[in-house]
Amino acid sequence: MATKVKAKAVVRKGKPAQASAKGKKWVYLFGEVKAAEKYAGSWEGVRSLLGGKGSGLADMTRAGVPVPPGFTVTTEACNGFRTTGKFPAGMWEQALVAMKQTEKATGKKFGDANNPLLVSCRSGAKFSMPGMMNTILNIGLNDEVVDGMIKLTNNPRFVWDLYRRLIEMFGTTVFNLDDEIFEHPMAEYKASNGYKVDTEMTAEDWQALVSTFKAVFTKHVGFDFPQDVYKQLEYAIKAVFESWMGKRAIDYRRATGISDDLGTAVNIQTMVFGNMGDDSGTGVAFTRNPSTGDQKMMGEYLLNAQGEDVVAGIRNADPIEHLVGSMPKVYKQFMDITKKLEKHYKDMQDVEFTIERGKLYMLQTRNGKRTAKSTVKIAVDMAKEKLISKEEAVLRITPETVDALLHPQFDESAMKKAENDGAFFAKGVNASPGAAVGQVYFDADTTEKMTKEHKQDTIMVRPFTKPDDVHGMIASQGVLTSEGGATSHAAVVARQFGIPCVVGASAIKIDLEKRHMTVGDVVVKEGDWISVDGNTGKVFIGKIPTTAPSLEEQTELLTLLTWADEISARKGVRVGPKGYPTRGLQVWANADYPKDAQRARAYGAVGIGLCRTEHMFFEPERLPIVQRMILSETSEERTNALNELLPYQRKDFDGLFEAMDGYPVIIRLIDPPLHEFMPDEEKLLEEVITMRVKGETEGLKAKEDLLVAIKGMHESNPMMGMRGVRLSISMPEIVEMQVRAIFEAAADCTLRKIVVKPEVMIPLTGTVKELEWIQPRLVRIAAAVMDEKKVKFEYKFGTMIEIPRAAVTAAEIAKYAEFFSFGTNDLTQMTYGYSRDDAERNFLITYQEQGILEKNPFQTIDRGGVGKLMDWAIAEGRKSRPTLEVGICGEHGGDPDSIEWCHIIGNNYVSCSPFRVPIARLAAAHASLKHAGKKIAEDK
Ligand code: PEP
Ligand code: MG
Repeated sequence: MATKVKAKAVVRKGKPAQASAKGKKWVYLFGEVKAAEKYAGSWEGVRSLLGGKGSGLADMTRAGVPVPPGFTVTTEACNGFRTTGKFPAGMWEQALVAMKQTEKATGKKFGDANNPLLVSCRSGAKFSMPGMMNTILNIGLNDEVVDGMIKLTNNPRFVWDLYRRLIEMFGTTVFNLDDEIFEHPMAEYKASNGYKVDTEMTAEDWQALVSTFKAVFTKHVGFDFPQDVYKQLEYAIKAVFESWMGKRAIDYRRATGISDDLGTAVNIQTMVFGNMGDDSGTGVAFTRNPSTGDQKMMGEYLLNAQGEDVVAGIRNADPIEHLVGSMPKVYKQFMDITKKLEKHYKDMQDVEFTIERGKLYMLQTRNGKRTAKSTVKIAVDMAKEKLISKEEAVLRITPETVDALLHPQFDESAMKKAENDGAFFAKGVNASPGAAVGQVYFDADTTEKMTKEHKQDTIMVRPFTKPDDVHGMIASQGVLTSEGGATSHAAVVARQFGIPCVVGASAIKIDLEKRHMTVGDVVVKEGDWISVDGNTGKVFIGKIPTTAPSLEEQTELLTLLTWADEISARKGVRVGPKGYPTRGLQVWANADYPKDAQRARAYGAVGIGLCRTEHMFFEPERLPIVQRMILSETSEERTNALNELLPYQRKDFDGLFEAMDGYPVIIRLIDPPLHEFMPDEEKLLEEVITMRVKGETEGLKAKEDLLVAIKGMHESNPMMGMRGVRLSISMPEIVEMQVRAIFEAAADCTLRKIVVKPEVMIPLTGTVKELEWIQPRLVRIAAAVMDEKKVKFEYKFGTMIEIPRAAVTAAEIAKYAEFFSFGTNDLTQMTYGYSRDDAERNFLITYQEQGILEKNPFQTIDRGGVGKLMDWAIAEGRKSRPTLEVGICGEHGGDPDSIEWCHIIGNNYVSCSPFRVPIARLAAAHASLKHAGKKIAEDK
């Protein structure tokens, strides 16, 4: 028990410590904000001088808000005290004058038993340091004042309680006594009376405890609790100054990088009480509804009560609008003031107020916390009310807010509760946002069946996914994998379809035979319920409640996004060399099917930046034809199979063009290695062995031949193997069919008066020679189709930039390519040399934890490496082709930080999954506002 009192020299009233500083102003009344501004030169300076709280109180006073009167002792005074251990010369005298003015303003008198003024003494540094420094309340209470207050309030229990608190606070805060010194006798007193909680204590009990506390104080401090109220004030100010150099405050400053030199200000403010009778009260309110954003005050109050009573919910509070009945004048004043506050702070306010004997005081106002929905509504409404500009409204909405509005979300408190209840199961990479709750199934077929036939909500769980798992993913509410990263197949597909997804939850062991998964000894069996949070990457056992939104119904968000588009489309937003865009970024979408394209349009995309044509090959009726085409031994056999595929592809493209009428559609020619379209080698081998063992011969030869063919296609490094343009050069028939299908569909659409703008994209180019070889062949087909169909329309041929060599040699590549699209999934993989499918599982998370990588480069563009290559490629590309169109279609196209980079380096557009289009539109506008007018070349 630390009972020793720290020696504290109390500065005598009126005895200057530093004669030279005497002329300086150390104390500012809340109403003297102008003088503070004049002295400090700026609002920032005022904040430094008066601290955050002091400047806030001064600002509220200036706005005409009735705050309980008081004054601020400056941070400069604190710094003076810090160096000498004494109040600077003149400070105390100024404080005494300020006290007199405070008495005048309140009509009360400090230390006067008949009409007592009580004050609080609080710290207030420039930057908030919550709870790190000292506060002393109810200064001004002594034996006489207590008697007077009891007569005034007719509430002895309340007054004795205040008094014992003051003595205790003085002991512990001003004289550094252990809490225990007071808590112990109090606990003993309660126990001897059989009380469990403080509310059982009567007025007499508190009075008895005051005597005990006084004795405790005298024993440990060495003198009686000061009855001189000015002495109390002096001690309190010193204690706050000293708390600036207390251990708690120093540790906090070290951790947050706040400088010791700033010092703290001290705010002396009148205490007001809401429990002084039925003409008093207290309450809290939001100036607009914080959950819906509705423009209606929401709050509650209690008559004849203290602030804690409202918060503790001991008594039922009344809705704020009832105040009009009980105190009409105060109510009107309250409504006027809060309106003024909103106007002054240009945001929804969360206010605390007290009415003391018919007089209203605002104790606190701050920008109110709110839901995503009300954040958007309030910003849009305030812009319409001309309280803020449209630009400000757009800037106030974060991409996360839009994200939260577009995906079902877990109820935050329910998620916390689940965590506290031990329902947390595992954590992986947050691959696709949103909340999913469902029963677990371990393969795509069962997931689809349980969803479609048994009408269950399902979560598909796999070690990783492949193209033939997509039907299960689409059927499911959510996807969970134990392997893979942010650009793995599961992640890309889930984002494309807006399915919440967590990948690479490597703590999970999946046993596909036993049909269960485990983390340690926790087992989740097939059919069990889990909750998957695509926002945080967390997985829980059991069901957590969700909330479900839809864009079409969110009129305010739609309005806000229209403003975002207007901002991005302003001419002159970007200034750059020849060929660089002068407006902000456009937002396009990655879409493979017409229904994705329709969604992309509904979400505001103005182009398709990537159609991965191979996804269409996996449809059940097409896959056998694709496999036949792959296994063909002659070019003729291959062409026959391709001719069967052509009508399917033409129909797909027709649907895309129709949905995107008038907007560009980039169709990428086949990209993945062919083995991805073939049955699984291991499974096939198992089947062959089983048939051989059982002596089954029917169909065995075909399977054996297929196995040989698949083995022949094996590559050690398929992502760096026979794929992309390499495959097209080895087997040009496939892309020739695709180009024919594209141009026939485009021609048919043109004949139906649909405006088409096809752009054919060649993937994985590494050298211009590849384009030189393939592109003219394809252009000839395009020309031939237009001749055959006798139509003409705009089109482009271009390439993806996915290989560092392509970026480096962009000037040559742009001689052929009319557009570039950065495939940043592969470009990141190849620049870092990290496998996009395995890196997260193996080391990326450790790298982030260890600070080797600040962010996951598969989610956010690595500006220093991959980003530099992009920047170089654009500059070089536009040198040889100033009209070069540049986009991005890797997963980064939907990431706000990466979008900003694309704005800076001069992309024309970003392309992302349709579900992320609204976020990207907002992020594009943010980039336009943040970098408005800056020169592209100088803005990196
Ligand atoms: C890319 O590599 O960024 C890309 C868009 O292509 P894919 O993800 O299909 O390889
Ligand atoms: Mg790629």
